[in-house]
Amino acid sequence: MIRVSDLTAYLKCPRMCYFMNRGQELIKEPTVEYIQRLLLKEMALTYGSALNEGNTLCALDQELDRLSDEIRIIYRQELAKVSDDMMEDAVSGVRTLLEGISTNLSSEHYSRTCEFEPVLRSEKFGLAGTPDKLITIGDEHAPAIIKTGAMPENGVWKSDRLQLTAYSILVEEIYNTVVTRGFVEYARWGKVREVTIKRHERRKVLQLRDRVRKIEGGFMPEKPTDAPCEHCGFMGMCDVKSTLASRFF
Ligand code: SF4
Repeated sequence: MIRVSDLTAYLKCPRMCYFMNRGQELIKEPTVEYIQRLLLKEMALTYGSALNEGNTLCALDQELDRLSDEIRIIYRQELAKVSDDMMEDAVSGVRTLLEGISTNLSSEHYSRTCEFEPVLRSEKFGLAGTPDKLITIGDEHAPAIIKTGAMPENGVWKSDRLQLTAYSILVEEIYNTVVTRGFVEYARWGKVREVTIKRHERRKVLQLRDRVRKIEGGFMPEKPTDAPCEHCGFMGMCDVKSTLASRFF
């Protein structure tokens, strides 16, 4: 069963997908930026309830206080080596974003009914994944993903669009429906961008799934020239010829 996260790893670098598929752990040294992303992800799950409070900024502030105590419980393994000083830096960095977030939050979007992190699985497509939310708008279902990194000037990043398309294919299969749109929530700004699900991206998702299947079967892709190697945790094991490595694994 291919996971939607395999497709997104493939989009970052096909070899990354290969190593993850072989059960290798992507080693990430926790940085303040990384902790901020985890905090923002958790904060974004509370934006709807913060909007329901009389003072949204105050509610976000309180949520951040709660999370600064609880984040280590939620991300036990990831944050095991994080010092109190790093955590404090990360929390105060996120706190500076709250005012901007509270001004941008859309009450229309965040008042919609949604299911958090539904597990979606299709034997027919050999695909599985868990979007951050599945939103219900009338008779319609629309997946939503939370992103904690940069937001493009317009629209959404290509990888976000493909990730949403993959979830849409799963939702259609499971709910016997047609998904026409999805949402990307850029947590750092509290902004939401709507994405129309397009035919050529559906095609692309199926092509990506087939490429990941080949990787599952042992095929090691070539190192792409524009691969993001600089901060990659697989750097140490990646510098081998594909044929040799394929035999080795
Ligand atoms: S080191 Fe570079 S080529 Fe290798 S997996 Fe990482 S990003 Fe990809």
